[in-house]
Amino acid sequence: MRQLCCILALLTIQACKHDGTDHSKDAHQSAEIEDELVSSEKGLIWHYDDEFEASQQDIYERWLTDVHEACTVTLGEYPFDMNVHFHKSSNRSVPVSFGHTRRNEFNELHFYVNPEATYDELIADWTAQHEMSHHSIPFVGKKFQWFSEGYATYMSRRIMILQGFYTEESFDSLYLNNIIDKKRFYSDSTLTFSEASAKLFKQSNYGAVYWAGSGFFYKADQLLQEHHNMRMEDVIKKYQDCCRLKDKNYRSVIRSFDEIINSDIFSTLSDQYTLAPCTEVMAAFN
Ligand SMILES: [Zn+2]
Repeated sequence: MRQLCCILALLTIQACKHDGTDHSKDAHQSAEIEDELVSSEKGLIWHYDDEFEASQQDIYERWLTDVHEACTVTLGEYPFDMNVHFHKSSNRSVPVSFGHTRRNEFNELHFYVNPEATYDELIADWTAQHEMSHHSIPFVGKKFQWFSEGYATYMSRRIMILQGFYTEESFDSLYLNNIIDKKRFYSDSTLTFSEASAKLFKQSNYGAVYWAGSGFFYKADQLLQEHHNMRMEDVIKKYQDCCRLKDKNYRSVIRSFDEIINSDIFSTLSDQYTLAPCTEVMAAFN
């Protein structure tokens, strides 16, 4: 459900236009708080878009600071500060009902949070790791949304291994089982994986694309270990340093990944996911 919300938000936001007033207000607030952050080196700037108790604000800031630290250790230093917006959620059944990113000049993260959530409940949730993962690569366009969501779905729990929520074994079985489970939605051999994913998005079957899309990174991670003695997060650490601010589209991200490892693992996988029948792509998971 939260994955569905994330997608809906992304689609809505892409159609959204900001007026100059909001931006200048945000820029002013950001500049003030940024001065404080130079010394603390947190890289996060807080915005409370709804009213929250001071004690709850302390919990949210500790939660996001800890997630940011885990993201930085796993994915490398982000070459920018991120503006974190907190909104009040009326859904009290989960700690975070909804999250989304805006990859604009403010590098925004938005979280709809339960005002009663405890630190322990928030830190065990995956939404923040998912949204912060999105910021470690550029926006690659709606056509490649399967890549973007597959990436955030895969990297979120790579980060949570460092936080102690998964072992390599539990991570592996969670992803493999979920990817295999989604094979049934990729049974039309006349469609590529990319085309089948676009169709599933139209049918609001977001979970299928998120998990199946993570298969691209699951497979890349396997090949990196076999041939390069590297993990996917090692590539991203280098990527954030060399190329995060340089690349502007899907093709340039794939090219940069290949240049980092001096191989063609990513362009070969990309060809499979965009040109071959989806049934062939999904047959690699069993
Ligand atoms: Zn997402």
